[in-house]
Amino acid sequence: MDKIGRQLEFDRNHIWHPYAPLPGKYNNWSVVGAEGVEIILADGRRLIDGMASWWSVIHGYNHPTLNQALVGQTEKFAHVMFGGLTHEPAIELTKKLIEITPAPLDRVFLADSGSVSVEVALKMAIQYQAGTGKPQKQKFLTVKNGYHGDTFGAMSVCDPVNGMHSLFADMLPQNYFAPAPHLGSTPANNDDIVQFEKLLEQNAATIAAVILEPIVQGAGGMRIYRAAYLKAVKDLCVQHDVVLILDEIATGFGRTGTLFAAEQADVVADIMCVGKTLTGGYMTLGATLTTEKIALGVSNCKSGTLMHGPTYMGNPLACAVANASIDLLLSQPWKDTIAKIEAQLTEELASCQELPNVKDVRIKGSIGVVELHQTILDNSIQNQFVDAGIWIRPFSNLVYIMPPYIITPEQLSRVTHAIYSVLAQQQPD
Ligand code: PMP
Repeated sequence: MDKIGRQLEFDRNHIWHPYAPLPGKYNNWSVVGAEGVEIILADGRRLIDGMASWWSVIHGYNHPTLNQALVGQTEKFAHVMFGGLTHEPAIELTKKLIEITPAPLDRVFLADSGSVSVEVALKMAIQYQAGTGKPQKQKFLTVKNGYHGDTFGAMSVCDPVNGMHSLFADMLPQNYFAPAPHLGSTPANNDDIVQFEKLLEQNAATIAAVILEPIVQGAGGMRIYRAAYLKAVKDLCVQHDVVLILDEIATGFGRTGTLFAAEQADVVADIMCVGKTLTGGYMTLGATLTTEKIALGVSNCKSGTLMHGPTYMGNPLACAVANASIDLLLSQPWKDTIAKIEAQLTEELASCQELPNVKDVRIKGSIGVVELHQTILDNSIQNQFVDAGIWIRPFSNLVYIMPPYIITPEQLSRVTHAIYSVLAQQQPD
């Protein structure tokens, strides 16, 4: 066995990969480099990346500006504790986040991942309610097919069936789940919001907050729903004195065609989470933004403080690269770029709809989703994509892409054509 073979064997036996058994069922692909939109494998093959490493690498890999931001900060200092100390990269990032999000969101917690930013949002909501005389409001209302992360608080608001509820049932806080909002492509029908309203009305006395992914539900089903639903949810939250948490971790920074997806519904969250793309895919970093009103409520609760403070909070390297990534995004005609990707995805993925194993094709901004009738059970489809020179990571019955924004029309066509031809080959004979 050669060196790469030995490494892959070690990897398969000793290292957990996301949602995978150990030892792994299959070898992973070993990466030795990544440039622009390409991932370079140890055997020399170059794959066009359709995933942006799970939504995050919008500017492409190995970007000189982001590299420089990281190197420059490394030479100053890589990290200091955030308790009692602060620094320019965190202050600059906080200013930028305040500037690019709606006006009342101007209080910021710099978390160390998306899941942690969700935990912090949930804590903020509970502490705000306690601090404003409603300590009985400790639960959350959300919708089915949601996904908010893998930590316990976040899991408790993920879809109760395709999330991890059954495994951790006795450990998880019990929350309320309304039906998933109808897909945008289904005829307008308000029974989803009617059921949501009913649950909220019946339980408002114990509900601290509603938490949702705006417009696009990601890992819980890659579902795109109507802006009108989100708008109605916001109105109901105001009516029932419930905080609205919007999880823009996947949808933020242009992915759906607006800088943040909630803009499409003209809705402003009371608490908003961002992550993933925040650092252009360089480092783990999340942020939880909220309003002065919520922050004052939190400070008014018994502890007087927001009860969270991770070791790597406000990591200077992550903040420095996030600053560079946001500047880079805003210095480009990103809206136009996303509109062009959306038009191309719409045109080129449409043919998949004709395949008998395809249930639905949905596009939103630079997100393309092909939903199959059947769940994909093995790795063969993944192998076929790699053989076609494409990196896509299907899950459940979903083949989906959210490429780096710098993908060229030719590269994107290679991805969409590979999706069609691989799915066409999956037909039963
Ligand atoms: N919320 C949403 C909507 C996500 O897509 C994710 C990541 N898949 C998370 C939260 C959790 O983020 P992280 O993986 O950085 O913990």
